[in-house]
Amino acid sequence: MNESLISLEQINTWFPNNKSLLGKPRSWIKAVSDVSLNIIEGECLGLVGESGCGKSTLGRAILRLAPLSSGEIRFMGDDIGKLDNKWLKPYRAKMQMVFQDPKASLNPKMTIFKILSEALALNLRVEKENYLEQSVKLLDLVDLRPEHIYRYPHEFSGGQQQRICIARALATDPKFIVFDEATSALDVSVQAQVISLMRELQDKFNLTYLFISHDLSIMEYVCTRVAVMYAGQIIEVQDAGSLFDAPRHPYTKALKNAVPIADPESGKELGILKGEVPKLSDPPTGCHFHPRCNYKEDICSKKSPLVCKTGENSWVRCHFHEKLWKQGILINSKESL
Ligand code: SF4
Repeated sequence: MNESLISLEQINTWFPNNKSLLGKPRSWIKAVSDVSLNIIEGECLGLVGESGCGKSTLGRAILRLAPLSSGEIRFMGDDIGKLDNKWLKPYRAKMQMVFQDPKASLNPKMTIFKILSEALALNLRVEKENYLEQSVKLLDLVDLRPEHIYRYPHEFSGGQQQRICIARALATDPKFIVFDEATSALDVSVQAQVISLMRELQDKFNLTYLFISHDLSIMEYVCTRVAVMYAGQIIEVQDAGSLFDAPRHPYTKALKNAVPIADPESGKELGILKGEVPKLSDPPTGCHFHPRCNYKEDICSKKSPLVCKTGENSWVRCHFHEKLWKQGILINSKESL
């Protein structure tokens, strides 16, 4: 049975945009708007969308590292959305994050042993006198050697630094890890090695991942399911294979067509997603995607589409998804936005 490790119920993360003289917000940046989503235990859920769509904020909000304006976050069945820092502490150890820039997320003045020891302090199963032994084991898990333990972050390559960040995430014995563009800054060959390591560790420790990326092409190899985000909202969730073969939302099709591969028929490179990314401080009315959508009709600018289930753990938000699906428009067309 597919058990949810994390369930989000209509969560919102809004930041004040500008304030009145009395300090009251005049408007809001709606980074996450009305997001409901479940993350199934043991899966790798992809979260994809253009830069600035709110996906990193959503990842941070799930870990309670970004403010939760409203809504409910359940982790292992517990409502953690309203807990303060003291009560969040045991949950924080179980939920970790690996960031895009490993160099920036490792303290340059600390040895790898110190960095790992700091994380091990959150793991109640490991006694302080075992930190050295445990740190060596963690390094081994990410294919680094014991002699690396007293070195400093700058003595490692970008790929090795990201391995150290993964080891640090594992130190707390987590159940859930958010990878926020964690492979985007790496060379392609190093990227493949880190992804292979992530998958290996996921199987070994039965981990659940949220893999955030702006690059849809990578999702097919990494993820079980993929959630597509646009202007603060999730607009489609599908199994990774289905999403690639048969997207249900016009924006997903546009993202897929924006993957920069040579088009053998035209000889051109696809890869440009046309139109402006909407401002999160002033998203379009109705369907947020309507100003860029080739299939919009009158209702699209007036009414926000409801969530329509397309499978047990998949859904889409588009007024005309059924019509587009029956016509096969989103499957075959290579037309970009
Ligand atoms: Fe396009 Fe309308 Fe569907 Fe939005 S609701 S994606 S504008 S067809």
